[in-house]
Amino acid sequence: MAYQVTARKWRPQRFHEVVGQEHITTTLTNALQSGRVAQCYLLTGPRGVGKTTTARILAKALNCAQRLESPDPCGECPSCRAITEGTSMDVLEIDGASNNSVDDVRELREIVRYIPTEGSSKIYIIDEVHMLSPSAFNALLKTLEEPPERVVFVFATTEVQEVPDTILSRCQRFNFRRIPTSLIASHLEKITTEEGIAADQEALYLLAHRADGALRDAESLLDQVVSFSDNVSAQTVGDVLGLVDRGVFFDTACAIAEGDGARLLDLVGAVVDEGGDIEEFVRGFLEHVSHMLFTRVQGSAAKLEVADTERTRYEESVVDTAEEDLLRIVQTLMELEADLKRSLQPRFRVELTLVRLAHMGRAVDLGRLLTRLAALEAAVAGGGSRPVSSHKPAAAAPLPVASVQVPATTPPPPQREDGPGGELAPSGDVPPPATATQPVDTAELRTHWSRVTTQLRVTQPTAGNFLEEVTRMELDGVMLTLFFAPQNRFGMGLVAKAHDAVSTAIEQTTGYQLRIRCSLDNDSGGSGGGSGGEPAADRPQPVAGPDRVPSDPPTSPAPAPDKGPGDDLAPPVRAVIDAIDGELV
Ligand SMILES: [Zn+2]
Repeated sequence: MAYQVTARKWRPQRFHEVVGQEHITTTLTNALQSGRVAQCYLLTGPRGVGKTTTARILAKALNCAQRLESPDPCGECPSCRAITEGTSMDVLEIDGASNNSVDDVRELREIVRYIPTEGSSKIYIIDEVHMLSPSAFNALLKTLEEPPERVVFVFATTEVQEVPDTILSRCQRFNFRRIPTSLIASHLEKITTEEGIAADQEALYLLAHRADGALRDAESLLDQVVSFSDNVSAQTVGDVLGLVDRGVFFDTACAIAEGDGARLLDLVGAVVDEGGDIEEFVRGFLEHVSHMLFTRVQGSAAKLEVADTERTRYEESVVDTAEEDLLRIVQTLMELEADLKRSLQPRFRVELTLVRLAHMGRAVDLGRLLTRLAALEAAVAGGGSRPVSSHKPAAAAPLPVASVQVPATTPPPPQREDGPGGELAPSGDVPPPATATQPVDTAELRTHWSRVTTQLRVTQPTAGNFLEEVTRMELDGVMLTLFFAPQNRFGMGLVAKAHDAVSTAIEQTTGYQLRIRCSLDNDSGGSGGGSGGEPAADRPQPVAGPDRVPSDPPTSPAPAPDKGPGDDLAPPVRAVIDAIDGELV
């Protein structure tokens, strides 16, 4: 048997076979069953969604010998066969684009006068009807005003706004929809299964996405891939269509989140080296980040039009990602996509944008910031002159309060007042009363740690990175001691300086209100993540807060903190600066 392209071979022959246009096929079926067939139909919608196909099925159904039994054409009777073969005298297909003159329409009007020969109706299908000239439309209008009996006009157009209102008002209009990607993919799956072609779902979704709602386009793309390889995989589809492997998009998003500019340049380089198109890369990545945004907003990837195997991957990819960041990336990529068309150096433009995205840092959640500010304001207003949280606490109160979220009107959180140097917290001390918001042990905290570090990075990217370097931690009441390897003194200093932000990050992620101090871990064989219990006093070189330099001898009393810029500020100003982790210069 001669080779037939898929779109033709699989052209629907019955109403219910038309994919994704049930609202239209049901109406037509009902009209045929009740005998209320209009004299003029206008089928509008994008290309490749089934307009002409539906017009042909309607034509067959009207003239089918089995018409009384079923609204669907039988496909077997002489009339059905003649229409399928294009030899029927009762169905005339006219291409509006090439027969658009007034003479053509006059000719048509002459033909229309003749009474149908074999079947019961004469059907005129005018494709691309919007291409008719104004005078041709006028000539057509005369026919439509008084159409001869048993004549049905079916107009199809992609540009309904170009069709004059006088014509529109005489037609029953059907709007064809773009076909959802998932429907196209499952239709392609049906075709490949029946044709015995090996195809994986991911590949079919790639084709469906590329077809952008047009089934015919998807079928043509499938033909193109099949003629290249019998095995329709994501790889072959990517090769044939010049698509960028989707794994690259996951990697790119990851590199942006990690602020890894070098990796981004490598990824773009690899795409170009493999013959990928840079614009295609940007388009694909934009779609990818949009998918991530949808997943983030909807809380799951269930509604995403992707292969089932990719859903989990999308859900995992957005766990540590803020909605604001995704929105910002989408916006930047949209601008980039528009700019690329004018750019003389598209690759350089793409690299620049990606590196900029990577270095933008993560969004500060404004809502959280405002809550924090409000709590601070309340605390400042009700709790006297001393701000509850300060980078440079007074010597008499060396320990920062665990949480800034506690309003001053409620009993204050447990506050250690064991004098200067009390931050050493020997185990003999009476531990502060445990609150409900307190973890049981450090193992439990460890399970949340990656989220805590991510949270800290929102406000303090560098400290957030070093927070990952914690070798082990100890918990004593609400005091959490973080240990760092001896060679990581610098990182420890940074985390210690950010102890307020670390507390906040822990609270925002886990709900636990803890105070933080840092110490070098001289016990190199220490069990990472072991639970607390060893006396903290045994640990040398503790650092608690910004005033301690890492080299402080372990038992010396804390020196009075130096006055820094901003120490004499009014509490509300100090509070605001603290809340945004700002610094006064
Ligand atoms: Zn028939």
